[in-house]
Amino acid sequence: MRPGILPYGRQMVDQADIDAVVEVLRSDWLTTGPVVERFERAFALRVDADYAMAVSSGTAGLHLAVLASGIGPGDEVILPPMTFAATANAVLYAGGKPVFADVDPDTLLLDPTDVELKVTSRTKAIIGVDYAGQPCDWTSINEIARRHNLVTIADACHAVGAMLAQKRVGSIADLSVFSFHPVKHIATGEGGMITTSDSALASRIRILRNHGISSDFRQRAERGTVQYEMVELGFNYRLTDIQCALGLSQLQKLDDNLKARRSLADSYALAFQRNHKVVPLSVRADVQHAFHLYVVRLDMGGASVDRNGFVTALRAEGIGANVHYIPVHFHPYYRSKLGMSPGLCPVAEAAYEKIVTLPLWPGMSQGDAQDVIAAVNKVMDAYTGNSGEP
Ligand SMILES: *Cc1c(COP(=O)(O)O)cnc(C)c1O
Repeated sequence: MRPGILPYGRQMVDQADIDAVVEVLRSDWLTTGPVVERFERAFALRVDADYAMAVSSGTAGLHLAVLASGIGPGDEVILPPMTFAATANAVLYAGGKPVFADVDPDTLLLDPTDVELKVTSRTKAIIGVDYAGQPCDWTSINEIARRHNLVTIADACHAVGAMLAQKRVGSIADLSVFSFHPVKHIATGEGGMITTSDSALASRIRILRNHGISSDFRQRAERGTVQYEMVELGFNYRLTDIQCALGLSQLQKLDDNLKARRSLADSYALAFQRNHKVVPLSVRADVQHAFHLYVVRLDMGGASVDRNGFVTALRAEGIGANVHYIPVHFHPYYRSKLGMSPGLCPVAEAAYEKIVTLPLWPGMSQGDAQDVIAAVNKVMDAYTGNSGEP
């Protein structure tokens, strides 16, 4: 047994990150200064987008993406329930109605066939979640969107560095949203980024993140003017220079981060490839997975799985397993205030009973991964009389 708990995810901060932040602390700008722009340019370049707008969190990014898409009261937005609540909450912030479409059972990614069935005359947008770090079937989703004249938004909070058919996540949907929460690939404390290749959407988002004011303090200082105009009701969703310095420094290490994650994921895939009781989610063809999460399904044939008991037993072995996610429409708020109930998305609901997230982050060693594999097999053995290995 391991000393302490191996977390399911964790940030990596090194001396270069600390130095970058300290440098900004000694500079003239703490909030919107030159480093915000540098981080935005570097990020846009990394994901092949024309524009990147830094915001105070992934959630703020989703909110602004929804607003910039023109969603308001009465408008419907189709999205999967297998996501963090913030994805759907962003639709509610704008007065829109989240409409849940089911997911594919093998990948837990938004199922285009169900999306098509959920389109109505009120549908305005589709939010695809690149769950666990794997891009959705954007070819089908973008095609549905084109036919019905809908905006596509990628909740790419898990998927910086992922690719679909040689295209980088961040340049596939009309708008893409990233998070820099510490468990994600790039950490800024709190933080997020929106990318697009539509200049009108980009400038609208820049205004919305700064109170709805059409210039920022630094631009006015450069122009030698003190006048500003608020042109619509916006928010203070700015990311600071301090945070962007950390983000920019972390971005330099993204490729190493992805490499480490993919190598650990390979070890898990190899260990479980012939185990019929511990089944990793499928990876689609033509995808480069970013592996924010490593999710397995516990499968014991017809026998029901005590998933929560399984997670507790893993924790007792020092393995910080987790569950991503409880379907959004199961949350009490969505049930009581929006009248949603189980049965809306049977595939996501059945998957929820079986999924476990295993630890995966770039500072983990291969030895740590082997400890996780041994603990999973031990707990499965204790539960069912054998580990499921052949
Ligand atoms: C992390 C996350 C968010 C929210 O990002 P924050 O930066 O924490 O606001 C939204 N959607 C998904 C899928 C996430 O994983």
